Amino acid sequence: MARVRQALRFAADPTAAQRRTLARHAGAARTAYNWGLARVRAALDAQRAGDPTARVPSARTLHREWNTWKRRPDGIPWWTEVSKCPPQEAFRDLERGLQAFWQSRRGDRAGARVRFPHRKQKGRSRDSFRLTGAIHLHERAVSLPRIGTVRLFEDASRWAERVTAGSVHVTAATVSREAHRWFVSLAVEAERDIPITNGAADIMGVDLGVLALATLSDGTVIPGPKALHRGLRKLRRLSRGHSRKRRGSRHRAQAARRLARHHARVASLRRDHLHKLTTTLAKTHGTVVVEDLNVRGMLGNRRLARALSDAGFAEFRRLLAYKCPWHGSRLVVADRWFPSSKRCSRCGGVKTALPLGERTFRCDACGLVIDRDRNAAINLAWWASSHAVASSAGETQNGRGADRKTGAVPAGGDEAATGTAPEPTGLRIGGLEDAA
Ligand SMILES: [Zn+2]
Repeated sequence: MARVRQALRFAADPTAAQRRTLARHAGAARTAYNWGLARVRAALDAQRAGDPTARVPSARTLHREWNTWKRRPDGIPWWTEVSKCPPQEAFRDLERGLQAFWQSRRGDRAGARVRFPHRKQKGRSRDSFRLTGAIHLHERAVSLPRIGTVRLFEDASRWAERVTAGSVHVTAATVSREAHRWFVSLAVEAERDIPITNGAADIMGVDLGVLALATLSDGTVIPGPKALHRGLRKLRRLSRGHSRKRRGSRHRAQAARRLARHHARVASLRRDHLHKLTTTLAKTHGTVVVEDLNVRGMLGNRRLARALSDAGFAEFRRLLAYKCPWHGSRLVVADRWFPSSKRCSRCGGVKTALPLGERTFRCDACGLVIDRDRNAAINLAWWASSHAVASSAGETQNGRGADRKTGAVPAGGDEAATGTAPEPTGLRIGGLEDAA
């Protein structure tokens, strides 16, 4: 038995009164966050001015001081109407944000640079708050402390039964708003038998792309959702319509609501599509290999940015990371420096350059001609078979440092490596020759 953490997300159907309560709680979280941030800033300013006693307050200190302050005449008059959780959790978020910023600045944190936490503006930042305590899931509703029982649009009975049986434990609830819709996301810990593998011994390389959502090493191409493309066209139209309306007019407000609603719909389409793909991958393959993409860096390129964020690379990774252990498979992230696109999947030769627009990989050494994305997917499968040693279920961390050298794979190096590793079905030689 092992404990697996997961998030269960449900679309909520609150009453009008509940909507007001939810909005007030989100407001409390935002107010507290900004209040805490102002204190942190003041402490940092004092430190800079040479005050040796100035300390950046911790989440715990902020919460204590907030509880005193909120009761004062200049505090917040509505404090009795909201749970004490949202501010407390907001301070924790702030603390985590600050830590991430400092780690990033010291260079102790991988990935893109983290910015200093910024103020949450009403209407600009997402309305959301977190609750802990007595949270109960019912067949078609969820009971939240201080808020009451909120109806759900979805059937939650499958999970509710497991909560009752004690195999699933709810630890927290995050309530958030997307346009006109409220969502409740429950953080749960589930007791689960994790099989050593899901029965599949193969290694599947997955190349995420801009044209197709994903190309698998067995040649399967998963297109992006069609509905999403249609949705995006409509989104552009609505967005144009909105910007043409006079500022402050009733028509503009109406157009803004329509636009926000459609945004939420497109986002949910995308999420749905990614969920289906990641579940299938985690369920049917022993090992799933993906590239370590610097998504933040790629989003800097504006022409590509929309298509990339649509494909939801980061979300894809996140979903796989929790679904793989759930289904007893393994997620391997190939080293960032592994040239999956430039390497020939047949002879191992590495090209010095491969323009982004070139959709076909042609090897000068062995003459292999293959779809660019499929070549990359096969290389990823190969990388895992030759680098990843048997490890427990879960994400195999890509080696930072030691494995970096694998960037320079000598030509022909795969011959020896695949000879010792179990033959991954992702490397279907027959399929390769068809393509050649
Ligand atoms: Zn070759």
